[in-house]
Amino acid sequence: MNGFLFEQIIFGPIKSRRLGISLGVNLLPLNKKHCTFNCLYCECGWTKPKKEACLTYPTREEIQQALDEKLTAMRKKRAMLDAITFAGNGEPTLHKDFARIIDDTIGLRDKHYPFARIAVLSNGSLAGKPEVASALKKVDQNILKLDAGNEETFQQINNPRMKISLDQIISNLSQFKGQMIVQSLFVRGTHEGKPFDNTTPEEVNAWLEYLKILQPKGVMIYPIARATPAENVEKVDLDELQKIAGKVEELGISTEVYS
Ligand code: SF4
Repeated sequence: MNGFLFEQIIFGPIKSRRLGISLGVNLLPLNKKHCTFNCLYCECGWTKPKKEACLTYPTREEIQQALDEKLTAMRKKRAMLDAITFAGNGEPTLHKDFARIIDDTIGLRDKHYPFARIAVLSNGSLAGKPEVASALKKVDQNILKLDAGNEETFQQINNPRMKISLDQIISNLSQFKGQMIVQSLFVRGTHEGKPFDNTTPEEVNAWLEYLKILQPKGVMIYPIARATPAENVEKVDLDELQKIAGKVEELGISTEVYS
């Protein structure tokens, strides 16, 4: 599978159920995926080893210019905008200038669309770096991935390309003291002959225990939406996701299911 990849730095705006009218910013190499994880379900496809991938990141200046031009054009047309969202071809915090790019974006947002929110979709693996953490604390929606309640499931489903444990991810997320939204994708299937499933009662209960510790502002729950790089990946149905969401609500944490 080639994966769904962005060819530009700025994409959209698109109407997103999660974020409203959202303008996307892709900090990753154009048309190539780069990530610290290699999730079995990633719609961008498999993460290639760095050596093979020939990665050229857009520069901070190119990103600032592209975003400024787009926002200027949108403002002239009196287009609506709810959010500027860092997503794209992988993990946005991998960009070496991530923190400065967030500062640039706050400046551009304030200049063009002061009421728009800035959102970052991240897997949290690099949030242990002080400059990444402090940049994530500045954005309006710090949306961090947590798909597993135990180590084996984390290693299997998120399949990290760096040496990192679920404990380290929890420690990275804990430092936000609840100032984050957790995003969790529920999925099951088999990969290389081994079953994986984060929807079993045991898995869900372990994941809920982490939510109790993290106390996020909200939880976004969703299933796969596009083709996956691993074969034999099953889409979890809405009823099942709603039941999981009900358990989160019982903890007093606001939850949305996106199908
Ligand atoms: S963290 Fe996101 S971009 Fe990275 S492999 Fe997983 S789904 Fe893909």
